[in-house]
Amino acid sequence: MEYRRLGSTGLKVSALSYGAWVTFGRQVGRSQARELIALAYDHGINFFDNAETYNAGEAERLMGDVIADLRLPRDAYCVSSKVYFGAVENPKPTQRGLSRKHVFDACHQALERLRVDYLDMYFCHRPDPDTPVAETVAAMDTLVRQGKVLYWGTSEWPAELIEEAHRVAREGQLTAPSMEQPQYNLLHRERVEQEYAPLYERYGMGTTIWSPLASGLLTGKYNDGVPEDSRLGHPDYAWLREALLENDGARLRTVRALAPIADDLGIPMSRLALAWCLKHPHVSAVILGASKNAQLEENLKAIDAVALLDDAVMQRIDLALG
Ligand code: NDP
Repeated sequence: MEYRRLGSTGLKVSALSYGAWVTFGRQVGRSQARELIALAYDHGINFFDNAETYNAGEAERLMGDVIADLRLPRDAYCVSSKVYFGAVENPKPTQRGLSRKHVFDACHQALERLRVDYLDMYFCHRPDPDTPVAETVAAMDTLVRQGKVLYWGTSEWPAELIEEAHRVAREGQLTAPSMEQPQYNLLHRERVEQEYAPLYERYGMGTTIWSPLASGLLTGKYNDGVPEDSRLGHPDYAWLREALLENDGARLRTVRALAPIADDLGIPMSRLALAWCLKHPHVSAVILGASKNAQLEENLKAIDAVALLDDAVMQRIDLALG
């Protein structure tokens, strides 16, 4: 495994990390979750990503349960949570958002569900138009000073709002955000490559990127239809299937155009897609979302594939992406 600094912090996270989003508690039950976390940890993955809203808190509960069962040493792994959407269906006004109240309540609930005394990373899952950024920055600063959170960050915040958070932190001598969690993959590049470009040097911002395989699209497994035992074939995820496959098959056409490049390199399409994410110099961690052991084992090979992506291959990829 390769370890990368989380931006300019001293925290070293595994370049390939592992998250629980739609898998834990729905596609993946307890014994499978235990196997996947054990496999990940044994292969050097040291960062496990979660959020209050994943399966309404169940994903955190399951992850906390299996990590405790596996007796992983607390100083050898990192765990994250995210606040904004709430941990229940139809949350009441105080049960979602980035108010000081919900940031505090959600943190305490995540600590309990994940069975830890502190969160290594805590993300504001989306911007909250109803809460001043200064209130959220102050709430995060308090949690850091209380020792309940080590590093806080944002997820899918516009660059200008991240800048505002830094300005508020600087002026109030509060803890500034250290990282952002954006989507980044071959089909979704702009924010990480363009919008955030000035922030990496200016603030030492790290990124822990999500959906590196676009929910599996970039494995090629959806090229000829939706397999029943897949994420997009799951009845609960029709909304995701519609969102990803809606645009007249344009995404799938791009995936098909990339396939010969992977073939010529002698690697599966999924490995090419993950290696491409790893190659970006400001990606601190690529968060994997495997639901089966074999997927995780395969995806771990992406680290060695980065060396195959020389300038000529990168140009070919850009060309295929149009
Ligand atoms: P991916 O884009 O890598 O998708 C993962 C899914 O792709 C798997 O569950 C599996 O689906 C399929 N897959 C993975 N590897 C293979 C393989 N080798 N062969 C075939 N199929 C494969 O990541 P996620 O979308 O899961 O995102 C990763 C993590 O990012 C999440 O778990 C979460 O922690 C975080 N995240 C954060 C968000 C945010 O807003 N901050 C939003 C979304 C995710 P299956 O077997 O079910 O078909």
